[in-house]
Amino acid sequence: MARQTPLRAIRGMHDLLPDQSARWQQLEDRARAVLERYGYQEMRTPLVEQSELFKRSIGEVTDIVEKEMYSFEDRGGDQLSLRPEGTASCVRAAIEHGLLEQPRRIWYRGPMFRRERPQRGRYRQFHQIGVEVFGLGGPDIDLEVILLTHRLWQALGLGDLRLEINSLGDSAERADYREQLVAYLRAHEDRLDDDSRRRLETNPLRVLDSKNPDLQALLASAPSLHAALGRDSRAHFEALCAGLERAGIAYEINPRLVRGLDYYNRTVFEWITDALGAQGTVCAGGRYDGLVEQLGGRATPAVGFALGLERLLELSDSAPPASIDAYLIAVGEQASAAAMPIAERIRDALPALRLICHCGGGSFKSQFKRADRSGARVALVLGDDELAQGRIGIKPLRAPQDDRTQASTDQAKAEQTSVALDALAEQLPRFL
Ligand code: ATP
Ligand code: MG
Repeated sequence: MARQTPLRAIRGMHDLLPDQSARWQQLEDRARAVLERYGYQEMRTPLVEQSELFKRSIGEVTDIVEKEMYSFEDRGGDQLSLRPEGTASCVRAAIEHGLLEQPRRIWYRGPMFRRERPQRGRYRQFHQIGVEVFGLGGPDIDLEVILLTHRLWQALGLGDLRLEINSLGDSAERADYREQLVAYLRAHEDRLDDDSRRRLETNPLRVLDSKNPDLQALLASAPSLHAALGRDSRAHFEALCAGLERAGIAYEINPRLVRGLDYYNRTVFEWITDALGAQGTVCAGGRYDGLVEQLGGRATPAVGFALGLERLLELSDSAPPASIDAYLIAVGEQASAAAMPIAERIRDALPALRLICHCGGGSFKSQFKRADRSGARVALVLGDDELAQGRIGIKPLRAPQDDRTQASTDQAKAEQTSVALDALAEQLPRFL
């Protein structure tokens, strides 16, 4: 049969290749450790939901629902969508399983799907870690989730992220403000672009979110949302600001920060970097006190955020951690036959050791080449003679992890040590 043309992955959706996975795992492990330290519990929900869920929560007139969702009718005629974000599913699950009787701190991770124009930092399948807290309405929990994200940046070694915050007020205040804003924008309609003109009708607050540089001057002089805030919203916001100051977290109030999703009220925040060009927001969140009720649950205050893992990874320059410690090679009839069981004994004795047992035979030279390419720190060397004496060779391929000077690498490469097989578990760690 003629060789077929190979198929390719879908545009904007990427394979995570074996030599990239260590960095992803490191990021996820560090994030998880921080989340657990604050008492957050992981929840996993399906990647597919009824389209209706996202229409009702994110909003019918948002970019996501209007043009970015992967929606389809399944064979039973149900209208389904790949999830474009995690909050709607979390709220749906929390209502469905009665999790809202008491305050809940929940986190999730996984792929999200939006049919956007792919570019640096913007993909059609991307990955988020997110947090949702249910049942707490005060500014203290807003402060906690921001402190948590701040600790996360520390754990990931990210320095130069800037925090922007804003308050959107409650729905009555927003409605008031909406009228003022519409009046202002109508008066300058000739200066708006097509997108903004359309949003003026459907979702005017989103005009403030426009990235069009020609609109920035106009928007800078738009009426301020802050002036429209009532006493309670203002007090909530001021308490958050005071908390951030007490905690020593620098922030900037951005009165035009409105967020792309409809469901936010009061606190909204973003962590932004200047290092990634236009796709500078690595983490975004806020309060959404009305959403649980909007999705059919009992009114429950809620606050959360989501961060984009691709953008975070692009920001951090941490070297990928080594994925393998030792590579067992064996030459000779008896040694080859004994290699696999000996590898098992070594794994029994050293549970943390990551050991590859060579497969496929070949000369010492070719096996050493494989061992070196695997990235292992040491080769374990088994020949018939060693086996007969109950011994095994340890050949350093790289300097031990905490001593990586060139001199030590050269020296380390030079010698092969022979140890009794029974003493390997004891001897090996000092070579790693
Ligand atoms: P943006 O303004 O960059 O489009 P957004 O407001 O649509 O972001 P959210 O829906 O709040 O973003 O998602 C939270 C985070 O998820 C973003 O700050 C970003 O880090 C990441 N993110 C969102 N969309 C994408 C995407 N298409 N590709 C990669 N990461 C994304
Ligand atoms: Mg977006």
